[in-house]
Amino acid sequence: MSIDFFSQYTMTSDGEAVDTAQRLDVLNPATEETIAVIPRAGKEHLDAAVAAARAAFPAWAAQPMDARKEIMAAFAERMALHADELAALLTREQGKPLAAAKEEVAGGIHWARHFSTMTLPVALIDTIPGQRISVRSVPLGVVGGIVPWNFPVLLALWKIAPALVAGNTLVIKPSPFTPLTLLKLGELARGLFPAGVFNVICGGDDVGPWMTSHPGIDKISFTGSTATGRKVMESGAGNLKRLTLELGGNDAAIVMPDVDIPTVVEPLFWSAFFNCGQICVAAKRMYIHEEIYDELSQALADYAKSVRTGDGAQEGITLGPVQNRQQFARLKGMLAEARESGLRFLAGGQMPEAGKGYFFPVTIVDNPPDDAKVVTEEAFGPILPLLKFKTIDEVVARANNSEYGLGGTIWAKDTDHAQAVALRLQTGTVWINQAFGVFPEAAFGGHKQSGIGTENGLDGLREYTNTQTITLKTA
Ligand code: NAD
Repeated sequence: MSIDFFSQYTMTSDGEAVDTAQRLDVLNPATEETIAVIPRAGKEHLDAAVAAARAAFPAWAAQPMDARKEIMAAFAERMALHADELAALLTREQGKPLAAAKEEVAGGIHWARHFSTMTLPVALIDTIPGQRISVRSVPLGVVGGIVPWNFPVLLALWKIAPALVAGNTLVIKPSPFTPLTLLKLGELARGLFPAGVFNVICGGDDVGPWMTSHPGIDKISFTGSTATGRKVMESGAGNLKRLTLELGGNDAAIVMPDVDIPTVVEPLFWSAFFNCGQICVAAKRMYIHEEIYDELSQALADYAKSVRTGDGAQEGITLGPVQNRQQFARLKGMLAEARESGLRFLAGGQMPEAGKGYFFPVTIVDNPPDDAKVVTEEAFGPILPLLKFKTIDEVVARANNSEYGLGGTIWAKDTDHAQAVALRLQTGTVWINQAFGVFPEAAFGGHKQSGIGTENGLDGLREYTNTQTITLKTA
């Protein structure tokens, strides 16, 4: 199929291209130039997409799961055919280096392929005399997907693949900052899924709240900040929407004294700075044992000098810009406060220079107090505090002292010890000697105010279903 990935963006509703009279500009964060003008949905466009999704639901849900999986597998192959264009577009709208954009698109394709092999098991209970009981997972209805701007392709596929394979229909919305790739995914889906099954709507800040309060949407799968997650929960109460909320995090990295410093420097650095620090599970507070603090912090600061910041479309760039002006301003505010309170910097620390593009220096803060804002708040950008610790009990208590509970990492040679420490962390995921290992096979979700529910794995697939128990009297 012929699609021009770099012009003409339309929404997908009821299997058709939909445009609007109102328009929105989309900027490239590396140049601040307008790269596209996209539709801006009004309430009537959302209503039409939801109505189409409701109309398509009974027939889609009634299809055998294998038939839905076949279509999802074909969708994965269509994405694979256009992976290069999707990656180039992703770099333009999001800012990340092209190599990282390619990785993200490959991840999205992998998710679609994996979910097209999954099944929803039926539990049979025949241990109760006179009863034969089956417990199955049945689709919910219309799912509303809401996606953030840090991983616009991957995190969209985390919703699209399980929602549709499980038998729901979908209305999905990108962030207004990064709508282009998801609009193109909608275009790729046309003609493959029955009309109304897969709808993509985009617009301004009003579309999200319209979705979360919409009586025609049965579930919201939301990825974004904790502050917005609270609003989603409140607004979804009207028709008791099912909710999956993947929210913010303030992940601790714990570096034990037995690590081999030259080996861990690079992965540790990127556990905080990959995607310009704009990852829900980036290391946002790095606790380093006092015995190795000086050597490792110096090694991290030295490594920072090798980073090449710039437009992600250019060869050799390893760190792109911050994704949008609001986030850039927030980070500048955080940095100004750190400077005013006299914190020391091992790298960066200077205010970004004026010019085109939201480029922010890699900033490493030297052992700030635990109550400094750079420690207590999710920076979601390239600012990392390094903190000294002495004992395991102390570092576990400090790591757990957060309203968030998304992920965390432990770096150690003694992996048995690391696993024992992992059990004491109050987070949805703990990675040992690695960061960001997410798999469609394994559940991912936040504890505390980092979220509700899970994505991925069988647990994640089941979040797109209701449980139905059928009880037959046999005697
Ligand atoms: P955000 O909460 O500002 O926006 C997320 C999405 O929600 C966007 O599509 C936005 O348009 C929409 N939205 C905004 N206000 C809304 C409202 N009132 N009702 C419904 N929808 C609304 O988040 P962001 O700035 O795009 O993303 C960054 C945040 O996302 C960070 O806190 C990060 O940690 C978190 N995040 C979490 C995960 C995870 O899996 N837990 C993954 C990625 C990002």
